Amino acid sequence: MKGTFVNLDQLKEITQKYPTPFHLYDEKGIRENARRLHQAFAWNKGFKEYFAVKATPNPAILKILKEEGCGVDCSSYTELMMSDAVGFYGDEIMFSSNVTPEEDFILARKLNATINLDDITHIEFLDRVAGIPETISCRYNPGGDFTINNAIMDTPGEAKYGLTRAQLSEGIRLLKDKGVKHFGLHAFLASNTTDNQYYPTLARILFKTAVELKQETGAHIAFINFSGGIGIPYRPEQRPADIMEIAGEVRQAYEEILLPAAMDDVSIYTELGRYMAGPYGCLVATAIHEKHIYKEYIGLDACAANLMRPAMYGAYHHITVMGKEDQPLEYKYDVTGGLCENNDKFAIDRMLPKIDVGDLLVIHDTGAHGYAMGYNYNGKLRSAEVLLKEDGSSELIRRAETPADYFATFDFDDNLQSQFIAKYPEIFKI
Ligand SMILES: *Cc1c(COP(=O)(O)O)cnc(C)c1O
Repeated sequence: MKGTFVNLDQLKEITQKYPTPFHLYDEKGIRENARRLHQAFAWNKGFKEYFAVKATPNPAILKILKEEGCGVDCSSYTELMMSDAVGFYGDEIMFSSNVTPEEDFILARKLNATINLDDITHIEFLDRVAGIPETISCRYNPGGDFTINNAIMDTPGEAKYGLTRAQLSEGIRLLKDKGVKHFGLHAFLASNTTDNQYYPTLARILFKTAVELKQETGAHIAFINFSGGIGIPYRPEQRPADIMEIAGEVRQAYEEILLPAAMDDVSIYTELGRYMAGPYGCLVATAIHEKHIYKEYIGLDACAANLMRPAMYGAYHHITVMGKEDQPLEYKYDVTGGLCENNDKFAIDRMLPKIDVGDLLVIHDTGAHGYAMGYNYNGKLRSAEVLLKEDGSSELIRRAETPADYFATFDFDDNLQSQFIAKYPEIFKI
């Protein structure tokens, strides 16, 4: 059985203050996991985790991770702004973007962020718009298929990211000519994998490439960035990734490949998102309708606009009916939201205890790529985000949207504006 980090009594208390639906985050879980990661990679002096902001773009979460020694990985202007405001600066910020607008590079340079270039043409572009820094990283795309023990994990050859192997050599030479002194190498070759061999396999590819690049160009490779990709067990029967084993095998590869090449000062970086936050968040919703037609349906006050993964990827998210943890799973339900889209289903043919209208449901593992992927389709409003603190108290870390937020970006003409003011004066007071 997959447990919840919050119990029914706590939830009842929280929902008195903050109505459902909302995403709830577990401060204790986030901190303990970050400490485990740092312990696992403690053998590498320069190790740093740059939390992928896109996974959970909330300043309160970034602040917790900063206190645990993490940096941030940004890919957009607003993510840079948020990270700057939380207090990240310089080598605490990795900027791993693609199709990067001028103003994003300009802000990244202003914050002294470490820039991870996605393309060889970005060298001239960056030089022109913001100048080339002394330390820079290049994202590698080895092409073809990425395999672990002959199993295809992903197809980099079809991915839009990164430089080819030949472009890496050419790019590094170009950058050296422009004054770069220290280089990083980055790759992201598989997503959401709990296979303990992912990082070690990626490490061998990147370490060997780094040795070659050093020999070819004389470049100083200062860090290797494994990016994100370590997955979490969304399904109860799935085994979690073993971070100690992963880090131990990366160390072996480091000692076998980098040490003999006299590259003993290479720092290991990660840009984990899902692994850092996924299990430590959940979407809390209330059953507001039941429907009996050709199938049995339970309708929630949350919908795909609050959690897109099931609708978008058919992703599994475990569901706990709070207070009914010990009841038999005797009912087969589709658990749905209210979008006018038939894919708005959090679960299909899921065996659950009997659900009554008013029951609180916890949809697990929404701490990363959950709220962040939310949207306003059907005029649905984004939910609140609540932090369950270490001392058991709860704090609102983002309020729910109101109709005022939804209407805020319209450019009303005077006539329409006066009609809105007459009928819905509240929308002009956010
Ligand atoms: C999305 C992303 C990450 C984080 O990925 P996870 O699967 O959440 O670990 C890290 N780096 C880059 C460049 C990304 O695009």
